[in-house]
Amino acid sequence: MTDLTTFIAGLPKAELHVHHVGSASPRIVAELAARHPDSKVPADPEALADYFVFRDFAHFIEVYLSVVDLIRDADDVRLLTYEIARDMARQNIRYAELTVTPYSSTRRGIPDVAFVEAIEDARKAAEAELGTVLRWCFDIPGEAGLNSAEETARIACDLGPAGLVSFGLGGPEIGVPRPQFKPYFDRAIAAGLHSVPHAGETTGPETIWDALTELRAERIGHGTSATRDPKLLAHLAEHRIPLEVCPTSNIATRAVATLDEHPLREMVEAGVLVTINSDDPPMFGTDLNTEYAVAARLLDLDAAGVAALAKNAVEASFLDPAGKARLSAEIDAYTAAAGR
Ligand SMILES: [Zn+2]
Repeated sequence: MTDLTTFIAGLPKAELHVHHVGSASPRIVAELAARHPDSKVPADPEALADYFVFRDFAHFIEVYLSVVDLIRDADDVRLLTYEIARDMARQNIRYAELTVTPYSSTRRGIPDVAFVEAIEDARKAAEAELGTVLRWCFDIPGEAGLNSAEETARIACDLGPAGLVSFGLGGPEIGVPRPQFKPYFDRAIAAGLHSVPHAGETTGPETIWDALTELRAERIGHGTSATRDPKLLAHLAEHRIPLEVCPTSNIATRAVATLDEHPLREMVEAGVLVTINSDDPPMFGTDLNTEYAVAARLLDLDAAGVAALAKNAVEASFLDPAGKARLSAEIDAYTAAAGR
């Protein structure tokens, strides 16, 4: 372990772009697969590692959905959520906005109320027992069409639990134009939720513009193609609209060919508020600490630079001002104690 790796491991962190089912570690997936033996997902952790090597974005979605298929009752949901928080606590993640897709569970027959109760139970237990604060982004699985958008907006607006802070849109971008989701985002925003759609991961900057103008995005999930449009970069910088960058995910899904070609540095140099995230960490063989190490290498950061990146995530979060101040102070105290 290098000095910087140790520093990153102990650094208090916030994560803003990480998916619920996509955070299921091989251990959790194996446990769920063993509970549901009719699933095609292997129950052996070693076979799972091979299963999680993706040919392309479409293949990633296919594997992802087969893991979604393992979440069949409220106990599965509760177990998954709490165990994710445990993995986060081990990495010193103090606060996470977890992207949850209620539609994936309700369409499988888990009642919406039971689903919401399960994640809220896990959230409260995780905060009390592990010290990791979870908040929710309920997201529309874009590939499932407008029915899923209607259902997600309904659950968010009617059952919106205490932990819910934002409303998102995921899934494939190609063939799934963002503007069609405007009415659902309008409803969620009217209900007090923040808008955080994925955009510009596998499509060009025009998708990011659509997310900003049609869906009133306050942060952009990925936004990888923003660097292809200088006007867009300037707009993001001027309006302090953060990007949720997930470097290893971008390589795993082939959204970016190689890490050395990743546009992270260009984003930072344009003055955009950049946050570092892990997206679907076990599926991409990564975790948030690894993503910080990757970012440190791409941006030539020392410990102080890494700490500044961690504070970006606090600033870009939907924590209340007191919560932001507290977590920022924790980062500063840790950095000072480490002599950086
Ligand atoms: Zn994502």
